Amino acid sequence: MTDLILFWHRRDLRTVDNVGLAAARQRSPKVAGVFCLDPNILQRDDVAPVRVAYLLGSLQALQESYALAGSALLIVQGQPIKQLPALATALSAQAVFLNRDVEPYGRERDRTVAEALRQAGVEVQGFWDQLMHAPTQVMTGSKQPYTVYSPFWRNWKSQPKAEPVADLTAAAGLTDAEKTAAEAETIALPTLKDLGLVWDQDLPQTPGTPAAQARLKEFCSQALEEYGEQRNFPAVSGTSRLSAALKFGTIGIRTVWAATEAVYAESRSDETRKNVQTWQQELAWREFYQHAMYFFPELAEGAYRAQFKQFPWLNNPDYFQAWCEGRTGYPIVDAAMRQMNESGWMHNRCRMIVASFLTKDLIVDGRLGEKYFMQKLVDWDLSANNGGWQWSTSSGMDPKPLRIFNPASQAQKFDPDAEYIREWLPELRSVDTADLISGKISEVDRARCDYPAPIVDHKQQQSYFKALYQQQKAG
Ligand SMILES: Cc1cc2nc3c(=O)[nH]c(=O)nc-3n(C[C@H](O)[C@H](O)[C@H](O)COP(=O)(O)OP(=O)(O)OC[C@H]3O[C@@H](n4cnc5c(N)ncnc54)[C@H](O)[C@@H]3O)c2cc1C
Repeated sequence: MTDLILFWHRRDLRTVDNVGLAAARQRSPKVAGVFCLDPNILQRDDVAPVRVAYLLGSLQALQESYALAGSALLIVQGQPIKQLPALATALSAQAVFLNRDVEPYGRERDRTVAEALRQAGVEVQGFWDQLMHAPTQVMTGSKQPYTVYSPFWRNWKSQPKAEPVADLTAAAGLTDAEKTAAEAETIALPTLKDLGLVWDQDLPQTPGTPAAQARLKEFCSQALEEYGEQRNFPAVSGTSRLSAALKFGTIGIRTVWAATEAVYAESRSDETRKNVQTWQQELAWREFYQHAMYFFPELAEGAYRAQFKQFPWLNNPDYFQAWCEGRTGYPIVDAAMRQMNESGWMHNRCRMIVASFLTKDLIVDGRLGEKYFMQKLVDWDLSANNGGWQWSTSSGMDPKPLRIFNPASQAQKFDPDAEYIREWLPELRSVDTADLISGKISEVDRARCDYPAPIVDHKQQQSYFKALYQQQKAG
């Protein structure tokens, strides 16, 4: 009888360009996928319905891919430490293959589940898949992890890049007896409603591998060539919108890299090549933050820099609430928060603006904002979100001591016609562009549009924040 290998999917919801799955298929034609609906993730208070909707849509697409390859994706629900050994035992699987994680929860989960599987006599094999380079592959000359991005990028870029791996094809399915044995352990793919969640808007990114592949192709044939100039304008569709696909692994990172290299090789101008490289640098930021989380898991708990470990945040609950609801009276901040609340995604420039505003203007602990992003974003990723928040709070690895964004100058530079502000704050559509950008909206207009006055004064708060920072630095 052919040996059965179970491939445990987590952040790699695809059958193409999947390192661990390709290795499983190489070992045996009989490979079945398994996904565990884990209550430790799905029942947290910071789970975002939009993200779970993307996950379920992607699992449905994955089931279709398995069926096309001749096999099946099995769904289990409950604690992975119980579910995986129970399924593997019921199916007499020879091995469970999986791709490794960098996050503290995922690493501990995998360690304990592997132990339980091995005790049950099931072999476990782990692979690196979600990164171009595994954490230990990009180290300083003295074999330390990097804490500064620029030298990390130079080293990361200089290393040879792997090609996409073979797709899952011609797999052998489960026998009828195995299907019956699996039935007792598995469930049908639930709906969002079954999980007690609601998302009734369109998804900001279409789930599943075919959609991610189509998006990559579209981006590479259009916006990538102008990415460097266009990526900062939130009213323009100048970025890839592949963040959920990269978070859930509906597309393989090697496939993405190969697509950028093809555009680079075919481009006729230095300008285009520069733009492609700017996007490649964003992919490297993703890896930098994942490596950082792998080596410094304490980042998930709080500040990296000493000055911020005991910072006297004011944490005014009314200010925080106004920020969450997009009612701060600063149009660019409010537009961004409404974009995230209503669509499940926010433009990168705006993530930086609202994070700076929460921490430097409202003097609220960035960890509250970080958690709010978790509750709202389709692409929420512990490492990238934590990295972005620590960068904006100035509490992270970034060498620049203090970074404070002025909302008015940001709007002036990056939303000069107030197109983005008007899109997400429709009540302000009739207000003059200059007033929307500067945030100096007359009392009459505010009353007419039912829009609040600024809750704080940027200049005053900036000085106050700097004074607090100097105090911390001094001792
Ligand atoms: C406060 C804050 C919070 C953030 N939270 C997240 C998050 O939870 N999940 C997330 O994926 N990104 C996060 N980012 C990074 C960035 O905003 C998003 O990756 C980006 O907006 C996604 O849109 P895109 O796919 O069109 O990006 P593109 O500009 O097309 O970039 C391509 C890909 O590169 C990666 N990437 C781009 N910028 C960054 C970055 N600064 N850090 C890490 N990876 C990056 C993403 O995977 C992205 O999909 C955060 C940034 C900030 C400032």
